Amino acid sequence: MFEAPKAWSSQSMKAAQIEGVRGRISVADIRVPEPGPDDALIRVVASGICRSDWHLWNGDWEWVGMKLQPGAVLGHEIGGIVEAVGANVTSVRRGQRVTVPFNLACGHCHHCARGEQNICDNAAVPHLIPGSGGWAQYMRAPNANLNCIPLPEGVDELTAAALGCRYMTAWRAIQGRGALRGGESVAVFGCGGVGQAAIEIAASLGGRVIAVDVDDAKLARAREIGAHRVVNAHGLAPEKVGETVRRITERDAGVDLAVDALGSVATVHGALHALRKGGRLSQVGLTSQAEKGVVAIPMDMIVLRELEIRGSLGNPQSEYEDLLGLVASKRLNPTALVSRTVSLNDVESVLHDMDAFKTSGYVVITDFN
Ligand SMILES: [Zn+2]
Ligand SMILES: [Zn+2]
Repeated sequence: MFEAPKAWSSQSMKAAQIEGVRGRISVADIRVPEPGPDDALIRVVASGICRSDWHLWNGDWEWVGMKLQPGAVLGHEIGGIVEAVGANVTSVRRGQRVTVPFNLACGHCHHCARGEQNICDNAAVPHLIPGSGGWAQYMRAPNANLNCIPLPEGVDELTAAALGCRYMTAWRAIQGRGALRGGESVAVFGCGGVGQAAIEIAASLGGRVIAVDVDDAKLARAREIGAHRVVNAHGLAPEKVGETVRRITERDAGVDLAVDALGSVATVHGALHALRKGGRLSQVGLTSQAEKGVVAIPMDMIVLRELEIRGSLGNPQSEYEDLLGLVASKRLNPTALVSRTVSLNDVESVLHDMDAFKTSGYVVITDFN
């Protein structure tokens, strides 16, 4: 349902375009999309560079139907200002500050009606629709009445870029699908972008947080933002990592909730082995080339310990209000996870840094010239 814009304006804009899988990324002048009747055109003020973008640049996720087209403009973590709206758009107006979830939704399917816009039957991601990628001076938000979310006072565009997608994804993984209650223990596997957000959110909701990673610097950061304990999994088999986590929970029982923020054989297994009986795994990380979507799981253990695995994808449009409220009131501070602001010209080097997991926290484009 979400297609390329019907028309392109004669005006041009700067955008960071990808040549193809693992190809060069260069800033080019391309045409500004023309908003259709249901669309908004947004002037991008801040735009994140995310591991999802890195995955697409690597040709990952073709196994779930996401294919990188040559000339693609990625970027799906956006804070901006509405520049123009189509005739049918009533929920936002020109000049309003907004964010756009990466899970674009139709608003009329079975799941949208149930408030599950993140698994909309007609879902699309902006960065695979021409003219809707965020690594550009302007982007088109389709179905803007649902997909443009106004930012309250106290939430600026940089914060909005930090919110989406990693922070809002962590919000759903912890508070929504993870159903974390105060006093419960939670182990977060992978302390990159989503993981750091998950740690901060879980701690602020009263969870006892154990952070797991292979990088001491990331674990030190995890402590700063609310992790009570940390486990360095470097060189350990997943069963051993799980056992180490269980050992630091009450009665060695294991954690109530595990969040796999990375998506690998090692983290899925480590997380399952860390759970208490009846515990739940909130699976956020999608896999990479090594797994191509398939991870064998210890099914007998899942039966014998009555474990649950819950997939968690993005965050429904209808679940933004509480999250934005907590951010506006400074109970959550996603901007603190922004480690660096860069220009459009820096995208390629940031993606290369991600090859070696060298980036920490959120890198956000704020210079579009
Ligand atoms: Zn829908
Ligand atoms: Zn993202």
